[in-house]
Amino acid sequence: MKIVTYESGGKTSVGILTENGVIDFSRAHCAYGAARSSEDQATAPTVLGLLTLGMFGERLFAETLGFVERHGLWSAFVVHSARLKAPIPHPPKILALGLNYAAHAAEGGHDLPVEPIYFVKASTSVIGPEEPVVYHRSLTRVDHEVELAAVIGKPCFHVDEKDAMDYVAAYTILNDVTARDMQSADLKASHPWFRSKSLDTFCPMGPCLVLPEQIGDPHDLHLELRVNGELRQHANTSDLVFGIPAIIAHMSAMMTLEPGDIISTGTPQGISPVRPGDVMEATVERIGTLRNPVVSQ
Ligand code: MG
Repeated sequence: MKIVTYESGGKTSVGILTENGVIDFSRAHCAYGAARSSEDQATAPTVLGLLTLGMFGERLFAETLGFVERHGLWSAFVVHSARLKAPIPHPPKILALGLNYAAHAAEGGHDLPVEPIYFVKASTSVIGPEEPVVYHRSLTRVDHEVELAAVIGKPCFHVDEKDAMDYVAAYTILNDVTARDMQSADLKASHPWFRSKSLDTFCPMGPCLVLPEQIGDPHDLHLELRVNGELRQHANTSDLVFGIPAIIAHMSAMMTLEPGDIISTGTPQGISPVRPGDVMEATVERIGTLRNPVVSQ
């Protein structure tokens, strides 16, 4: 099941991505509830709303899609001019891992971390598929970083590793675009490097959310990144230093994770610079490809 946030006719809605196109989830779910004279027609107009209400999950989307299929209602609910947006355009927080692939740590000359290293990206940096990454005129080096990201589905605090996967509602692709020159200068000066990760448009995300039931083992997914079609990064999430349960256990021992929080698991080796005019394509197996052009400011 692939869930999207899309814009059509100036309105932003939740959709189910199918072989027949994007299905308007809210309208289809409403019709499904009305057909059953059900009290539970109420839904939320956003992914974050569905997560917060505890509704987001395989059952909700499978039942709605099953209703559309059984009654041959594809044409009634297919959206013809859907433009995909980031699945969660303004997540509560984005926590991103650093040095979480051994070969990537080595290419930067770093030792392997003994516990997860992570930082925050500002929610205002999020953009969706096909939206441009803006190359700020003060920068001289901007890098791509393809990453598998997990979406938290329910409040999470002090969770054990063995229970941690129960808190993952979905997976998506995140390109942790980084102003490398700014980051290096800030690190050298012992300053926080938050800003280098958080410039507007520096967090492409999408193109969809894939539910855990369809992702299989999230620790066995091929991921790659191409620039203008040229392969720059390729690896497998089996090479993660800290897997998702360890990351969630560690983070939730420090802070509450909330529905809609994004945990980006870190990038593999092969980071490289992009320039205005380039097109980045970040791919994660079973999720899809997140494509973003780079433009000058
Ligand atoms: Mg990263």
